[in-house]
Amino acid sequence: MPKEVRFIVVVGSLMSGLGKGITSASIGRILQGQGIKAVPIKFDGYLNVDCGTMNPFRHGEVFVLDDGTECDMDLGTYERFLNFDLKSENSMTGGKLFRYVIDKERKGGYLGYDVQIVPHLTNEIKRWVKKVGEDRDADVVLIEVGGTVGDLENGYFLEAMRQLALEEKVAFVQVTYVPTMDAVGEQKTKPTQHATRLLASLGIQPDVIVCREGEKLKQEAKKKISLFCNVPEEAIIDNPDVATIYEVPELFEKQGLGKLLMDKLDLKSRGRDMVEWTKLVEKIGKPRTEITIGITGKYTALKDSYVSIKEALVHAGAKLGCRASLKWIETTDIEEGKLKADDALKDCQGIIVPGGFGARGTEGKIECIRHARYHGVPYLGLCLGMQLAVVEYARNVCSLKNANSTEMDEKTENPVIDILPEQKTVTEKGATMRLGGQDVEIKEGTNAHKIYGALTARERFRHRYEVNPDYIERFEAGGLIFSGKAPKSNIMQVMELPGHAFFMGTQFHPELSSRLERPHPLFVAFVEAAMKMKK
Ligand code: GLN
Repeated sequence: MPKEVRFIVVVGSLMSGLGKGITSASIGRILQGQGIKAVPIKFDGYLNVDCGTMNPFRHGEVFVLDDGTECDMDLGTYERFLNFDLKSENSMTGGKLFRYVIDKERKGGYLGYDVQIVPHLTNEIKRWVKKVGEDRDADVVLIEVGGTVGDLENGYFLEAMRQLALEEKVAFVQVTYVPTMDAVGEQKTKPTQHATRLLASLGIQPDVIVCREGEKLKQEAKKKISLFCNVPEEAIIDNPDVATIYEVPELFEKQGLGKLLMDKLDLKSRGRDMVEWTKLVEKIGKPRTEITIGITGKYTALKDSYVSIKEALVHAGAKLGCRASLKWIETTDIEEGKLKADDALKDCQGIIVPGGFGARGTEGKIECIRHARYHGVPYLGLCLGMQLAVVEYARNVCSLKNANSTEMDEKTENPVIDILPEQKTVTEKGATMRLGGQDVEIKEGTNAHKIYGALTARERFRHRYEVNPDYIERFEAGGLIFSGKAPKSNIMQVMELPGHAFFMGTQFHPELSSRLERPHPLFVAFVEAAMKMKK
């Protein structure tokens, strides 16, 4: 008999940025800690089919799943907390849903009917979430509704969730904000009262209210929210600011949130625990040593653009007992002569050049890479960061005049980075890059081999350009080692410099598959090298 699947729906009220993703992931993690399999789905109301065409400066990092889906960064949070791979079906956007329904209509899938938001679109939503639950053998499907209650964009989705509760066991979690207004420090609950009323007007009564605020939620505020929002006091969960997001599952668990949800959904604990997780969280809180890592980029104003890198450093740090503070370096300032790479990086024990697109800031990044290579500072280049490390080496070691990537300079004399052959005819922008999980063949005896401890690895990609195969021999003669490549093709996927403390570039994004309980070996080796540099 198939398992009965339950549903938890997390909605946000009042404003965005309350950490609904972290709340959802933490709920998933505490259920997992009880031996219950929670499979997440993120709903985003926008009409983009996926996040691939969005600017990370506006929207935060584009996360890439193993199956190649370009999605919201919350899916990254889920993977980091739950430690299993998600798929396209775990990311649902307005665009994807409408496209599905319209395609189905064209094929005669609703023959005879005028296709409507209710019931056709809402039925497809319910069918989707139930199917994910069944296919993934979930105990619980954990649905996070993007945006805020009251947005036009997610109205039909909330309606589908209301209907779902008529058919299945569903628990609703409302995330809200409790501001402190005056000098006395009174926590104001009225906004939450209004927000819950708004939710009630859509036919949804929350079972749990998670309150975000700077300081701990006071008893008085809790009482008021309980009374006016019609939720028992024990189901008003406090979510104050904490030092690390990985503390949140325990913070919730201490308040009995796991049991509360399990009781509501008629689920029994299967008695696993979170001992390892707790140990790692403690290690994050009490590092033995600290290092500074310089990260370059043009989106430095929005740290969300690089959230996976930030977290991968936390994971490696938790393993090694080290806290990495990040120094963000705006490379356009270096290009414009306002800042010198040597000055900007002199107090950094490691340098990361992350992925990116377009020419702006690249000459500044190349300057930073030169600094790392020249001064023996550990360097990790991610995707564009590998490509630019190759450009830097071409120019300054192999004397290839004006070497560049054709992405930055189409007419460069030495196109050491060039467009992938299969990309030449691509005209559409959505989901057309070389995307998702691919195998990497590691070269024996290299640093990469030592780090991975294996001759193959699986890593996630998102790019259109590659090391130009015509130059590989020249680079190798010049001392650069390509220690990872695509099996059966000539795509270079890892580069390294021997005789340097740590100098590696990857055409893939190791940050996307790093997790607290499974830190990525390249990040671990990089942080280790930076720790040595500190000594
Ligand atoms: N712009 C480069 C490419 O398309 C690098 C992409 C990236 O850093 N993700 O190949």
